[in-house]
Amino acid sequence: MVAGKNLSCICGASVDASSLIIKRTEGGGYRIVCPSPKCPLHELGSAKVIRSSQPKFEVKLSRMFKDWNVLLVGRESCDRLVRDLLKQISLKLRKFY
Ligand SMILES: [Zn+2]
Repeated sequence: MVAGKNLSCICGASVDASSLIIKRTEGGGYRIVCPSPKCPLHELGSAKVIRSSQPKFEVKLSRMFKDWNVLLVGRESCDRLVRDLLKQISLKLRKFY
């Protein structure tokens, strides 16, 4: 098992802001998708734009993804890594506007 500083998906793929796939949905939100095409979970989270004039993003990661990473790296590291990842996803989304 991977121990330490990375978040990973239940399929084993290492997950960070550069590997995640962000897809725009028809409703104007975003889907955050695992980098592995064979992933059984596929969708790891979602994001929506709160204000479009000066965009802010509400990014959520799935419960299962977070719980899984708590098991792998411990709650403290997981919380920190998730916070960091959410921040980076927001920065990435900002470039679309
Ligand atoms: Zn996966």
